[in-house]
Amino acid sequence: MRLRNIPGAEEVINNCQDVIQNPEQYKGNWKEVFDNQNPIFIEIGMGKGQFLMKMAELNPKINYIGIEKYTSVMLRAVQKLNELEVTNLKLICMDAEEIMNVFGMEEINNIYLNFSDPWPKDRHAKRRLTSKEFLDRYDKVLHKGGKIEFKTDNRNLFEFSLEEIKQSSWKLEAYTFDLHNDEILNFGNIMTEYEEKFSSEGNPIHKLIAYR
Ligand code: SAM
Repeated sequence: MRLRNIPGAEEVINNCQDVIQNPEQYKGNWKEVFDNQNPIFIEIGMGKGQFLMKMAELNPKINYIGIEKYTSVMLRAVQKLNELEVTNLKLICMDAEEIMNVFGMEEINNIYLNFSDPWPKDRHAKRRLTSKEFLDRYDKVLHKGGKIEFKTDNRNLFEFSLEEIKQSSWKLEAYTFDLHNDEILNFGNIMTEYEEKFSSEGNPIHKLIAYR
């Protein structure tokens, strides 16, 4: 993805009280940040945050954390979040590789991966957010019985992800190569920005759910 360096982005992000600075300090204590005992769901690579903002509005009894690597992208999410009145959504600007430094053992109840970057070259496979390297990280921070829900339009990445899950200790709960025509898995589906774009171009959306 080509990203512009947007002047002032860091300042806007740093001034937003819903963006958590130095998130490592809350490792094991994220419930304190939300000031309640509700479960915590995260999205890794949330982009502009449409999915998580709708989820937070629909489910006030769930705490959501959106993780995004780039300030230029995070800026768009912050601008939208500033217009909402939700108290159950926080944002972190970081590389997901740091996830084990930020969350304690079994602290997270659900992980969403939506339209993750495909990293098509073999030598970059470990950067894919469904690689065994990332699955091992999720295994540490996810609560027993917690789930990963992954959506993509990229068939190669989806097949790679199914294979990585089969070769790991994760269990596949369900999957489909055509989410929008799958009555059960599509029930209550909230579309992401990329999902709207790709499905409007006629591309089928793939989804898998795995648990540990
Ligand atoms: N989830 C959104 C959607 O479905 O509309 C955005 C999808 S976009 C293709 C992927 C996003 O993941 C980008 O914003 C990218 O910066 C972010 N991303 C990729 N690798 C990441 C990582 N290692 N840690 C955090 N964010 C990452």
